[in-house]
Amino acid sequence: KHEIEDAIDNLSQDLKGLMYPLGYSKSTRKTRDKEETIFCQRCYNLRYHNKIINSSWQDTLTLDKSFLQFLQKKQNSIILTVIDIFDFPGSLTKDLDQLIGRHHSNILIANKIDLLPKDIDPIRIKMWLKEHCSMYGLNNIQEIFLCSAKKNWNIKELCNEISRIRNYNDDIYLIGNTNVGKSELINSLLRTCAYHGGGNYKVTSSHIPGTTVNMFGLPLDLFNDALGKNVKGMIFNEKDDGRFLFDTPGIVGENQILSYLNQEELKMVIPQRNILPLTFEFKPGKSLLFGGLGRIDYKEGNKPIRITVFSKLISHITSIEKANDFYEQLSSCDENHFLEPPIGSIDRLKQFPRIIKCKRDLKVIGECHPKKSKCILDVVWGGIGWCSIGGVRDGESVIFDVWSPDGKGVYTRHVPL
Ligand code: GDP
Repeated sequence: KHEIEDAIDNLSQDLKGLMYPLGYSKSTRKTRDKEETIFCQRCYNLRYHNKIINSSWQDTLTLDKSFLQFLQKKQNSIILTVIDIFDFPGSLTKDLDQLIGRHHSNILIANKIDLLPKDIDPIRIKMWLKEHCSMYGLNNIQEIFLCSAKKNWNIKELCNEISRIRNYNDDIYLIGNTNVGKSELINSLLRTCAYHGGGNYKVTSSHIPGTTVNMFGLPLDLFNDALGKNVKGMIFNEKDDGRFLFDTPGIVGENQILSYLNQEELKMVIPQRNILPLTFEFKPGKSLLFGGLGRIDYKEGNKPIRITVFSKLISHITSIEKANDFYEQLSSCDENHFLEPPIGSIDRLKQFPRIIKCKRDLKVIGECHPKKSKCILDVVWGGIGWCSIGGVRDGESVIFDVWSPDGKGVYTRHVPL
């Protein structure tokens, strides 16, 4: 981008007119301290129109993790493993210790913390993250940071830690599944060092998964201030020359529900701001629907329980029989807007995978706890949201069926609170 900008600056006005149709576009919005920003068409469309040109995003996915194995051969790099707290452990790349080796310094960044309710206890969340990381093959974690790349929360603290553990000859690698916010995190680091000049640069972040198609490196001197070096002098340390922060393409799990959605539907599903939890009384024989993407049936139990939903989608409670009818009618009528996404014509509904049972007879037993109403289990539709099951009396058991498109992308987790 740098080189292209310089080249364009050197061109005469006439030639600039030729350059833009060739695939580079001017920003239509003027940034604070830059007159004009040049984007390639792909990034321009992502940034201003939220779409990928000439292909669906599903075509760009990297399903293979083998590109991470090159880290096995690297010595003493700093790995920033990013996860989406809204989709955990679904957004954690499995078996990372095995894939990249244990000889690096690994910091876990739980991003999008701004989406969670404000009263969470950071210490408990960190313990819970550590426990689940260990279950999924990641034990080599030096430190955990709860961050919001969007709001710059805890980014300075993260920089300080990187600065503390980093030797001058270490590269930094940002790894994680698609859509966890790696590009946004780079932008946040750059914003943090705006004072030093890094704020003039920006990488394209988008809600469309898989938009970082290749590994690319940003020279570390751009982040120098943010990484705590030469804050006063604002001159990057020569020893940092030739060292990079690498953004990697990210992995899309084959099991992700998001992979079924088109761009309009993704926009509808992926939360951009704090989700307000909604709590319902849930009676036996009832079914809770998350748009057309998820459903949980309270199949067996004696008493009403409590269910708290964290999702951007509209939740709807009905009887199990009616829920069956709703989905049967879906492919012949487009009036059930609370069952969106899928959005649109009957053709779209017909081609969309059917919602089927992915967990049958999920048994939840009430635990002895001073707070009787404690939530005990989350049922998570990866990337879409989750519901916390609570209010099950000590020793009593309740049974659920859980549904998702093609039976994909649902997992359960124990609640840390
Ligand atoms: P990448 O695929 O890992 O590079 O993810 P991106 O940086 O492109 O981000 C994916 C989506 O998550 C975009 O819609 C971002 O706006 C959103 N996002 C990234 N970081 C945050 C965050 O800290 N909070 C919230 N609410 N959204 C975020």
